[in-house]
Amino acid sequence: MPVCTAEDVAEAQRRARAAQAEWAARPLAERRAVMLRYHDLVLERQDQVLDIVQVETGKNRVSAFEELADVALTARYYAHAAARHLRPARRRGALPLLTRTVEHHHPKGLVGVIAPWNYPFTLAVSDAIPALLAGNGIVLKPDAQTPFTALIAVELLFEAGLPRDLFQVVTGVGADLGAPLIEGVEYLMFTGSTATGRIIAEQCGRRLIGFSAELGGKNPMIVLADADVDKAVEGAIRACFSNSGQLCISIERLYVEDGVYDRFVAAFAARVGAMRLGAGLDWEADMGSLISRKQLDVVTRHVDDAVAKGARVLAGGKPRPDLGPLFYEPTVLEGVTEEMELARAETFGPVVAVTRVADAEEAVRRANDTAYGLNASVWSTPRHGAEVATRIQAGTVNVNEGYAAAWASIDAPMGGIKDSGVGRRHGREGILKYTEAQTVAVQRGRAIGPVPGLPLEKYAATMTASLKLVKRLPFLR
Ligand code: NAD
Repeated sequence: MPVCTAEDVAEAQRRARAAQAEWAARPLAERRAVMLRYHDLVLERQDQVLDIVQVETGKNRVSAFEELADVALTARYYAHAAARHLRPARRRGALPLLTRTVEHHHPKGLVGVIAPWNYPFTLAVSDAIPALLAGNGIVLKPDAQTPFTALIAVELLFEAGLPRDLFQVVTGVGADLGAPLIEGVEYLMFTGSTATGRIIAEQCGRRLIGFSAELGGKNPMIVLADADVDKAVEGAIRACFSNSGQLCISIERLYVEDGVYDRFVAAFAARVGAMRLGAGLDWEADMGSLISRKQLDVVTRHVDDAVAKGARVLAGGKPRPDLGPLFYEPTVLEGVTEEMELARAETFGPVVAVTRVADAEEAVRRANDTAYGLNASVWSTPRHGAEVATRIQAGTVNVNEGYAAAWASIDAPMGGIKDSGVGRRHGREGILKYTEAQTVAVQRGRAIGPVPGLPLEKYAATMTASLKLVKRLPFLR
């Protein structure tokens, strides 16, 4: 895999920019057809894609499949919704009847995407799909650990009919390629750690270009006494251990109301202890490997530190070198306290801390006591759960689901508050951010301003009377 340089990034930008003008001039229907073909291709070629994702990351097959399904879902959603979001829209004009005002959306030009390794298939292309539909070119920098997955994702786009030069991939070291990438694009989409997000935000700020950043989390799940406990246990398994816990929206803190705590925790720990681990290219394993020594070291350090300071291990708690060099057991800890590193820091691994709470008030207070605000989950009756959800400071909250309900509602915005991010993906904002809004106002009759011959004081008095009148007309509100 080439280790690209700043010159390579500049060349990639030159090529993508040259292709972008022609792409933007095509009718939206043509761009949409490419994405609908892509949807089908991704599903048809899934065996090949899933093998590459698994070999490169060590994740289990169903976690790889979730990525693939996400790409198909995003391609279909934006293929159909792009026209609705992008079409020129009439806005209320300055003067009723006399000013015809239309909001247009033009492509920014070139969009940079910096993607992480944890969902390397979907995060390589899902944010690019709306940008492409809006008429932009793309330069993607995938994580150095997962370039092959990114390349197959983009190759399938070419097969679906995307012009080759329009989507460039530069492989190499993030710290070396970030600055040159930002130097030559009009917008940057970043997914990764909060630490890198801050560096990128500074660089985009200096260039005065827009960016959005989907960053880390320390996501809470609340199980209330009126929840269906069996369903909550199953939901927690998926929410904590999908992708071996290396999921930005996965659950690392579980707050369970007193009345169901013992029942929930006993069932949860037993289910976690029975999970099947493995790295085979089949559908057998409930959880796969971690991706890297670095991840294994963080997980081991967090658990060992917590145990040394008095946390109890209810399930898991050990690396599993017998299964592969980077396996770690799905782990449930109880009695986690403030002095333990994992109380507040993101582990980004298969580790969850369970805590007993007296009531919903305490659960919400503790859930919000974090620097992050990405995702949350509440288990309760639908009505009570939805009410509690709005009191949680997180960009997405799932009721009676861990993460997939909100994430896969692609028509609705997804992203983080506090240290978890800036901007949103998905929905209207997820495509309009790749455009420049332009207001075109056509004035009929005379121009707006003082009437020739009328003293300025009289003009101001007439305007004052008109403004007062207009305020009272309901159809102009
Ligand atoms: P990271 O920030 O180190 O790396 C992410 C990407 O940024 C990689 O492509 C990397 O090469 C690049 N990069 C690193 N340093 C850079 C720099 N100085 N300039 C430009 N690019 C640079 O993240 P990581 O630790 O490898 O990934 C895991 C993190 O990503 C976790 O914190 C997780 O929560 C977060 N994440 C968030 C989401 C989300 O949607 N919110 C999704 C996946 C992962």
